[in-house]
Amino acid sequence: MAATLASRFGLAGVEITEPPTLDELDLPSPRLAPPDSLAPICSSSPFDRAGHAYGKSFRDVVRGLERRFDHPPDVVAFPHDEGEVVALLDWCADAGAAAIPYGGGSSVVGGVEPEVGDGYAGTVTIDLAGLDGVLEIDRTSRAARIQAGIYGPALEEQLRPQGLTLRHFPQSFEFSTLGGWIATRSGGHFATLYTHVDDFVESIRAVTPRGVLESRRLPGSGAGPSPDRLLMGSEGILGIITEAWMRLQDRPVFRASAVARFASFDDGVEAARALSQSGLYPSNCRLLDAAEALTSGAGDGTSHLLLIAFESADHPVDPWIHRAVEAARDHGGAIDEDGVRIRSRDNAGASGDAASTWRSAFIRAPYTRDALVAMGMITETFETSITWDRFADFHEGVTAAVRSALDGVGAGSGWVACRVTHVYRDGPAPYYTVIAPGRKGAQLEQWEAVKIAAADAILRLGGTITHHHAVGRDHRRWYEQQRPPLFADALAAAKGALDPDGLLNPGVLLEPPRGASPT
Ligand SMILES: Cc1cc2nc3c(=O)[nH]c(=O)nc-3n(C[C@H](O)[C@H](O)[C@H](O)COP(=O)(O)OP(=O)(O)OC[C@H]3O[C@@H](n4cnc5c(N)ncnc54)[C@H](O)[C@@H]3O)c2cc1C
Repeated sequence: MAATLASRFGLAGVEITEPPTLDELDLPSPRLAPPDSLAPICSSSPFDRAGHAYGKSFRDVVRGLERRFDHPPDVVAFPHDEGEVVALLDWCADAGAAAIPYGGGSSVVGGVEPEVGDGYAGTVTIDLAGLDGVLEIDRTSRAARIQAGIYGPALEEQLRPQGLTLRHFPQSFEFSTLGGWIATRSGGHFATLYTHVDDFVESIRAVTPRGVLESRRLPGSGAGPSPDRLLMGSEGILGIITEAWMRLQDRPVFRASAVARFASFDDGVEAARALSQSGLYPSNCRLLDAAEALTSGAGDGTSHLLLIAFESADHPVDPWIHRAVEAARDHGGAIDEDGVRIRSRDNAGASGDAASTWRSAFIRAPYTRDALVAMGMITETFETSITWDRFADFHEGVTAAVRSALDGVGAGSGWVACRVTHVYRDGPAPYYTVIAPGRKGAQLEQWEAVKIAAADAILRLGGTITHHHAVGRDHRRWYEQQRPPLFADALAAAKGALDPDGLLNPGVLLEPPRGASPT
């Protein structure tokens, strides 16, 4: 990788920073000690404190590599059941400590960073990994009661013997938990229909400082504003989600896919729009621009690719893929005669096409990103959504803003790639990846200029500050511009009702209640 980067960006060489070892870290002393009753599930070891100091944003990884750990939690708690979560929140209230709910720590927006200012006696990170079971399965309604701290692979493993699956696969699937997904309204691999985890949530149970809030299991309800919708996306500021009933699916048996090549990105966008409005609801409808196709190895950089796929547990999906192929061709897409792949239980199908190459690059991306940072690159991914009628101008404006910011920080040779990850009937969710050579010691300032330029352009041109990466502490200033002021008041009132002392995740989504310095 280092050699490829050096040649791509014309660098004399690439220096690789090694990750820190524990004895290199100089952590501030813990300001809190748990009561005896909680001591067995609490740790203030340097390993646990350093390991829970950051999420996984570019800024987090750089600060880790720079051996900067200014705000580690004072205590990391590992509850095994809901009773212990309640006891931990009670202790935080008594001690005047902030409580940071922690799933897999894969937040890329400062969602788990215990930087809460001086208004608290200390910080306690509550790591939910001990709540990791599928507790109950309702085969008839095809739903399961699942604990919030379970990681993606373990969740699927526990459902597999029943032939069931949640089929929610964010790119961070391996490193993130059910509670984290619900708290951030994460986006999975389905390009249509079930785009966010929200679509699989039947009911939620959460511990708040005021008691337990549990919604009723219902397939649908028109009874007022939804309690589930209050908790989904609450990012740990209203309560700690301990379990949820989730809607499941049978494991798919029939699959079909195709890859269409486009000479013009705009034609690819039109094809994606046609598919999004066709009523076919493809499970995959990802448009990769030529740069994204090249870096993922799915293409040679000369054309834009539209990856289309359908799946079903119930019926062959051949008619769907054939109709989708027609629609892509109608918009100028080139699809080889043997480019349509149809698979069933008896025919596992071949790999090695552009779609499977892109998929393995997608799964490797978390590892690749960390390596790029260690090699001194500036890397940023940001995502948003916008209606179809504004997409062309939006895309041009955002890309131009990022390019100009890269020029401004002396990283003009960097590249900006785009893929459309989800498509709705009224608009796409574009996802941008920026990679540029950084200047030693200035990586963070360079990155920040690009990040601010991108976020400002997104807001100015009418998009959302996030389609699925959440708000956290890092996106708050743009979220404040996006949300209606009266809604901000209503959210703050809900926070006041559930967490009157402002213990939970200060600084996320809302201004911190005790005058913390903004991140
Ligand atoms: C390489 C990479 C790829 C990614 N790809 C995707 C993607 O495809 N789709 C996507 O949506 N996101 C993606 N993300 C972002 C991140 O994985 C998601 O936000 C994920 O949902 C976070 O889950 P987690 O369990 O790691 O939560 P954490 O990072 O631990 O926490 C996230 C937020 O939720 C709160 N929280 C966590 N658990 C609970 C709980 N039980 N109750 C209440 N609050 C809680 C935390 O306080 C924090 O504010 C990616 C991140 C990385 C590093």
